[in-house]
Amino acid sequence: MNDLLIMTPGPTEIAENVRKAMAQPITNPDLDPEFFDFYAEMVSKLQTILDTENDVIVMSGEGILGLESACASLIEPGDRVLVIDNGIFGRGFADFVRLYGGEVDLVEFPDDRPVDAMKLEEILKEDSDYKLATFVHCETPTGILNSVKEITEVLNRYDILSVVDSVSAVGGVPVEVDNWGVDILLGGSQKCFSAPPGITFMSVSEDAWKMINNRETEVHGYYLNLIPWQNWYEDKKFPYTQAISDIYAFDQALDNWLGDGNVLLRHAENAEAVRNTLKRAGLELFAKDGHSDTVTAFKKPFGVDYAELNQIMADKYKVMIASSVGRYSEDILRIGHMGENCHEGKIYITLKALDRTLRELGVDLKEELQLIFAKELV
Ligand SMILES: *Cc1c(COP(=O)(O)O)cnc(C)c1O
Repeated sequence: MNDLLIMTPGPTEIAENVRKAMAQPITNPDLDPEFFDFYAEMVSKLQTILDTENDVIVMSGEGILGLESACASLIEPGDRVLVIDNGIFGRGFADFVRLYGGEVDLVEFPDDRPVDAMKLEEILKEDSDYKLATFVHCETPTGILNSVKEITEVLNRYDILSVVDSVSAVGGVPVEVDNWGVDILLGGSQKCFSAPPGITFMSVSEDAWKMINNRETEVHGYYLNLIPWQNWYEDKKFPYTQAISDIYAFDQALDNWLGDGNVLLRHAENAEAVRNTLKRAGLELFAKDGHSDTVTAFKKPFGVDYAELNQIMADKYKVMIASSVGRYSEDILRIGHMGENCHEGKIYITLKALDRTLRELGVDLKEELQLIFAKELV
């Protein structure tokens, strides 16, 4: 199991120095003053990466914890929330909103292209009485990248607070929280930063803090409550004991990211080469437009069974790619080329394994995938 090349859209491959960082001796994170400074340093690295001066909170738990915490802390019973939907994660926000008493207005866009900000504006011209809006930066199941900038520009014109799930985008595509006026932007450790699953982080704007602090009702959740995170440094007090080994790994992953001057360019170039490769071989991308540079989703060739493909790829070539989820689980295959996965050597091996496997399963490809990829890169 652990000698597979994991080319899925999260969790991604983990660098050796990140794995080793987890094995460091620990301190008591609640009592060691140096740990608070270490933690503050990590937060400032994230502020650099997100291009923001807003607070950044790092929580112990998977990405879903961040999404749920934002909803639990912002939403009060009866609040009207605009849930912008062009995919499975986008729609999924509605469940969290309802769980905390919010009234959901789902605004639906086609799943195979980015959200149309002009159409969003048309809708808001009719009715813009929303406290906040949620949307997804990269729809991981379908490989679509929404323009955070265009959407928040519209939302900000109508004074609607933005909550953006960027779990599978941040670190792989440009993010400018302050320039774009994003109120809450959420990320996770196991996608483009290639640390183990277990950490989620979010930037929180002053407006978001105001909304949270001016609640009339209490937050329904203890672990999910963002309020105790406001003064952790001044008070030298975390809301709960931090998952210190996960944090050491995550911090090392951030150092790797910051020390790599090419990371975003590499995502853009490799992703484009993957897309061109699949198209030239005769396969069909799922997205009509707005392809994410972190994950490529393509239509599963007719007659191919994912379980069988996965088995052959694992047994013969020691590579794993993903199917999709929900309504797309039967129709889409996905290559995660984000974070540590985004190196041409790994992608070459993956495409070669995929090529051989698809041929074994009876699929006709116009040319060998890895050979097209090599040509696309030069
Ligand atoms: C990965 C991911 C999350 C985190 O959820 P899991 O599926 O539990 O890993 C949240 N949002 C998006 C868009 C993601 O890709």
